[in-house]
Amino acid sequence: MAETFIIVGAGHCAGQAVATLRQDGFEGYVVLVGEEPHPPYQRPPLSKRFLSGELPLERVYLRPLTFYESNDVELRLNTKVERIHRSERRVDLDDGTALQYDKLLLATGSRPRELNLPGVNLPGIHYLRRISDVEDIQNHLKPGKKMIVVGGGYIGLEVTAVGIQAGLEVTVLEMQDRILNRVTSPTMSDYFAKVHREHGVDIRCNVHIEGFEGSDRIERVVCSDDKLDADLVVIGIGIVPNVGLAEAAGLECNNGILVDEYCRTADANVFAAGDCTNHPNSLLDRRLRLESVHNAMEQGKTAAANLGGQRRVYAEMPWFWSDQYDYKLQMAGLSEGFDQLVQRGNMEDQSFVFFYLKDGVLIAVDAVNSPRDFMACRNLVSQKPRIAPERLLDTSVTLQEIASPQS
Ligand code: FAD
Repeated sequence: MAETFIIVGAGHCAGQAVATLRQDGFEGYVVLVGEEPHPPYQRPPLSKRFLSGELPLERVYLRPLTFYESNDVELRLNTKVERIHRSERRVDLDDGTALQYDKLLLATGSRPRELNLPGVNLPGIHYLRRISDVEDIQNHLKPGKKMIVVGGGYIGLEVTAVGIQAGLEVTVLEMQDRILNRVTSPTMSDYFAKVHREHGVDIRCNVHIEGFEGSDRIERVVCSDDKLDADLVVIGIGIVPNVGLAEAAGLECNNGILVDEYCRTADANVFAAGDCTNHPNSLLDRRLRLESVHNAMEQGKTAAANLGGQRRVYAEMPWFWSDQYDYKLQMAGLSEGFDQLVQRGNMEDQSFVFFYLKDGVLIAVDAVNSPRDFMACRNLVSQKPRIAPERLLDTSVTLQEIASPQS
């Protein structure tokens, strides 16, 4: 009898997983259950070209709706999986129906970390995770309006850039002593702070927010030492993985659903992939949880292969990107713990690469407006080479040559 695979969540990871299942020749039933009204879509444009209105909705979707029809994937949108009965291999849906599965893939993703402060529920205060959030924010992206962005991470800074380009006055409030604190070096943080300030952004660090005020919508953000007028607030202070469903089903979770290198949970019939997982990575010699498209896609492919009976290992060097104004920042590897920073190229040229070394080994790269070099750097970082800074600085040799194993 044909097997049934159910995928919970219809995000980037799930969209990739169903495509891989069919590409690999799985002929059984595939059911994709997602609580949002949309088929799988890309979230990165939500803080970039979709927010600015440059990209239409159809271009945000991973694949057209016809893909699911022609690949015989049953889409159950606007539908939430409420419970997993593992011993009976069944899930309960919020429309009152239930589905039997042979294998289950949890691709439940993550949700914005919420700020628990007085007034935070006032209209005009937004988080940014879904298409519907963009629609709400766009209504207020009007020239001259005052936008306060809470959190100087990627999403906050991308929204800032879109806001500035739409003619708003933007203030970024960051509780740490620098923006991009969690993801890059102080030198790169300073560089992007300068870029934003040159565009007119008021960046304030070490800020303590006490609450939000307004009669029927947001009017002011209250900080410990100041009150700031606001027409619109966007909060981007990180995410939390969606583990509730797995946890209630007795699957072990610790900062994500625990899976092995095959995306398997402790239950042989239940897999998990994407933002929601805490997974091992042999390239980094540690377990981690990632929030990136590359991870969602590659784990989606790995999980799909293994649902179908293969034994594929997930071991990818993480990489990520961010677009702010006409700056593309691309990062590979994890720079935390670096003890040496080597800069190739000139910051004034708006195109350069930072190499991060630890004990003489290259552990990460940040590239600004250097997409071709970044491709070579990704390759190089994956090799974890012990490399002399002089070699990285030698511009008579291209990064492609340095990255090629023969060189
Ligand atoms: P998600 O995309 O979160 O999808 C999970 C889906 O499952 C959601 O639709 C959720 O509603 C649904 N779901 C959860 N529980 C249930 C349930 N019980 N029943 C049914 N459905 C359920 N990454 C980059 O690499 N580069 C970028 O530039 C970048 N920019 C970003 C900008 C924004 C604004 C955001 C929000 C994210 C960005 N990311 C970026 C991160 C990237 O989008 C995520 O890492 C990726 O979407 C993770 O995919 P996922 O499928 O694991 O989870």
